[in-house]
Amino acid sequence: MTMQEYIDKAEKVLMHTYSRYQIVLDKGEGVYLYDTNGKKYLDFAAGIAVFALGYGNKEYNDALKNQIDKLLHTSNYYYNVPTIEAATKLSKASGMDRVFFTNSGTEAIEGAIKLSRKYFYKKNRHAESEIISMNHSFHGRSMGALSITGNAKYREPFEPLIGGAVFAEFNNLDSVKEKINENTCAIIVEPIQGEGGLYPANPEFLKGLRKLCDEKDIVLIFDEIQCGMGRTGTMFAYQGYGVKPDIVTTAKALGCGVPVGAFAAVEKVASAFEPGDHGTTYGGNPFATAAVSKVFDLFQSDNILDHVNEISGYLEEKLDGLVNKYDFIVERRGKGLMQGLEFNKPVKDTIIAAMDKGLIIINAGANILRFVPPLIITKENIDEMIIILESCF
Ligand SMILES: *Cc1c(COP(=O)(O)O)cnc(C)c1O
Repeated sequence: MTMQEYIDKAEKVLMHTYSRYQIVLDKGEGVYLYDTNGKKYLDFAAGIAVFALGYGNKEYNDALKNQIDKLLHTSNYYYNVPTIEAATKLSKASGMDRVFFTNSGTEAIEGAIKLSRKYFYKKNRHAESEIISMNHSFHGRSMGALSITGNAKYREPFEPLIGGAVFAEFNNLDSVKEKINENTCAIIVEPIQGEGGLYPANPEFLKGLRKLCDEKDIVLIFDEIQCGMGRTGTMFAYQGYGVKPDIVTTAKALGCGVPVGAFAAVEKVASAFEPGDHGTTYGGNPFATAAVSKVFDLFQSDNILDHVNEISGYLEEKLDGLVNKYDFIVERRGKGLMQGLEFNKPVKDTIIAAMDKGLIIINAGANILRFVPPLIITKENIDEMIIILESCF
């Protein structure tokens, strides 16, 4: 079939929830993708910050193949070895005491909401709790996660959503303080806002939130679904800030392509959950957690964090070069290999032109180009990206 025939077929059977770019991707190799015509693309999107290790890593693929032949699924009525190993590695990497695996990011958020509500309920014996989240935040598409997502456009068509969602201003501690009352059970924040436009939190903001939460026994949740798993040069972004949350959510690069997420918590909060409070059929099955386990191993054996720290300065320098050179580029924002270029106009035409020239790149909001490449990119890849991008301006 031609690419257009595939696309026509897709538009007949798939729900119209995306305006997809007009290519059909077929295979991946390292940091390159190929469409069904065999055209090659340098990938600076990584399936939205998912493929940290690039495509076709042999050790990773072998681990999954072995697990397929062994055991795909057990249900959570029983223990299985990959889940135990993955949880141990995630707990060590995050500094959290207990882990719950989910199938997606949004489910990790659901779990974090439920756990913090249960913690509040156990303490206060009533359920009139509130969660403070930030304007321009993104936490997912399921009803709970949507309720605390700071973008009214996403929320409004689906109201009524869950109650007790309160919004404050990102990087504005006073705005958060104003919203706190005796029913505040949690504060949730992305240490680097992703979908909202690549805004890193100020260190004082996160430190201030930690202090507030300690004083008032409020659960601090960091949503690291996008910014975690090495993307900013530490395993989790909060480690770079030196501020530890009570609950962290992760997904995207956690499985590097296998759909899996998790929320992990410190014992004090995690212990609020009792058997029966939460569950999932698939979550943390041996196939998904074999992926997670191998991802953590490869991060270590391939020194991924060192590489991110080495390479991200180069990406920043090159992007800053573009900011200085082109007056339609307003600024660069971000941390590590999670960067954005804000234009004074929509970036959609640039993205389409880049695709035509063999570069896959995404946006975050209409005017912002987002750079979330595989963490294994090299200087040569960055040079190649810059050349293609400039040829589109
Ligand atoms: C992608 C994302 C989510 C939602 O994850 P899904 O796997 O798409 O459900 C939540 N929070 C942040 C910060 C994200 O980037």
